[in-house]
Amino acid sequence: MLNVGGQQVIPSQTMKYLGVVFDSKLKYIDHVDYINQKVRKTIAKLAIVFQNTFGYGNTARRIMVKGCMKAIYLYASVVWGSALRYQSVIKSIRATQRKTNSICARAYKDVGYEISSVLAGMPPLDMVIEKRIISYSVRKKYFPVMWTVMEPFDIPINATEKALQIMLNQRLLESWNKLYMDNVPVNHWCRTLIPSVEWAVRCMELRPNFLLAQAVMGHGAFNSYLFKIGKRTSPNCKCGLEVQTPEHVFKTCVLYSESRPDDWSEGLSSESVRQYLIRATKQLWEEEKEEEKSGLNRVRRIRSRAGVPNTGAGPAPSSR
Ligand SMILES: [Zn+2]
Repeated sequence: MLNVGGQQVIPSQTMKYLGVVFDSKLKYIDHVDYINQKVRKTIAKLAIVFQNTFGYGNTARRIMVKGCMKAIYLYASVVWGSALRYQSVIKSIRATQRKTNSICARAYKDVGYEISSVLAGMPPLDMVIEKRIISYSVRKKYFPVMWTVMEPFDIPINATEKALQIMLNQRLLESWNKLYMDNVPVNHWCRTLIPSVEWAVRCMELRPNFLLAQAVMGHGAFNSYLFKIGKRTSPNCKCGLEVQTPEHVFKTCVLYSESRPDDWSEGLSSESVRQYLIRATKQLWEEEKEEEKSGLNRVRRIRSRAGVPNTGAGPAPSSR
């Protein structure tokens, strides 16, 4: 501890000035931690009106979340934006955004980042921040510009502001699409419904609701999911033929074939596909409720605790 003019001065590694947390090495990792927490606190307050089954509509959610989050992240981003060179920083921003995406998409909390961002219609924030930094650097003629998140491209020196924005928006979309394509395998069920980010943006809005988000993600009443979180001792479908994944339920299972669409090429943008997904997911939940009522799920839980294998689809054992 130092003593300056009779005042005790406590040394610190960081200092907050005009809302930016500066650290002694100008890494700005502490600042990113600070804004991540700030966004989480703000969003937690909004969560009351953002429930999965009720509350504000999709557009209102997006406007409110964007309004809270974007302003906080973009503030002084040209100062602290160099922190994007650390993978841990990008990871932490995406982890926070995953939470806000799940609110906008009415999805479960363990939704994957890449899918949640497309479903919510929210481009990766780290790319939005980088776009802002590049735009600022070009305007101020700070060359060469630093690319960290998006794929770099040569910016024409005489590009007008409007042309630059068009180029950057296009690059952001391409980089977002690459993130989705690289992280969601080509045989993943989501790719049937959302072939690419560019496609999703062209559709304007995917209008997710609670059931539709589950149908896309495979969360909710699917045995494959319930098995994964330890609520079933088997992931198998009631038809007994295969694991109850969304792909099995929606594409092949005979139990959920009513009004099944023949053509899936339009993905989530097709109204008949949407209606079918919602109806079949509802049917799964109704079956789940019936089983809960009949006590079958209780029997499964007891069996599971006792380590007795069960098919997940079999009949309830006699109560004798
Ligand atoms: Zn089946």
